[in-house]
Amino acid sequence: MSDYKLYIGSHVSMNSPEFYEGSVKEALSYGANTFMFYTGAPQNSYRKPLSELKIQEGKKLIKEAGIDESKIIVHAPYIINGANKAREDLFDLSIKVISSEIKRTAGFGCKTIVLHPGAHVGAGAENAIKNIAECLDIVFSQDNSDVRIAIETMAGKGTEIGITFEQVRAIIDQCHYPERLGVCLDTCHISDAGYDIKDVDGILKEFDRVIGLDKLLVVHINDSKNPMGAHKDRHENIGYGYIGFETLYKFVHHPLLNGIPKILETPYFNEKPPYKQEIQMLKDGQYIEGWRE
Ligand code: FE
Ligand code: FE
Ligand code: ZN
Repeated sequence: MSDYKLYIGSHVSMNSPEFYEGSVKEALSYGANTFMFYTGAPQNSYRKPLSELKIQEGKKLIKEAGIDESKIIVHAPYIINGANKAREDLFDLSIKVISSEIKRTAGFGCKTIVLHPGAHVGAGAENAIKNIAECLDIVFSQDNSDVRIAIETMAGKGTEIGITFEQVRAIIDQCHYPERLGVCLDTCHISDAGYDIKDVDGILKEFDRVIGLDKLLVVHINDSKNPMGAHKDRHENIGYGYIGFETLYKFVHHPLLNGIPKILETPYFNEKPPYKQEIQMLKDGQYIEGWRE
């Protein structure tokens, strides 16, 4: 275990006036050695040009702090849905937005962008998988960067797809550029989807059997406000939900997950970010009862 490389951080904001430089500072203030960010607002596709985002200043800080840039993660905005073709405008918009986000990811010097596979909105999971694979084919046919898309495992809220490892595998299989795809495993989502999250070894074994651990690019470390199978997707602070500290600690330090970035997306509490304390506890293995109060 001595050569275990732990990369842990949280999602961070990117706001005026410091933008990316501010994102890096925020991550460092949490004691993180990686982080995840959106290249603009999560809920829309309006994007400022890269030249305004203080990328060089951020990269300088990253270098000074000795952070491995290849472990920094981008998250695509939520408006994307390439899974349903009934609304062709949305399908076309999704292709445009994913393409632009991949270019932006490369512009920051990052290698991985997390993408929600979308919702079938009545079309059925099988069609949805075909559609998203087609959407990704069009995106990759027009892009020759080395950025990979990490498809996120979803909680099964509404008609979301990607709620089983088999569905995620099917997307990768049906895409003609499987080498450009990987997976983001979200602990809250898979528990909500019905996986027995406390059986960490069993889950990783199943992931390896169905998808292959070599495809795992990111792990989102979140507790869940709801019990297994609830399909709600409501994240909770570490130790305050149904998953618990012990299980999340196992994911953070599991030998099979050596070198894979672990990212917290837990909620603010009393309008304050919880990440400094959560990261500290997940590093040490020492849970402080009532840490949030
Ligand atoms: Fe996500
Ligand atoms: Fe997530
Ligand atoms: Zn979520």
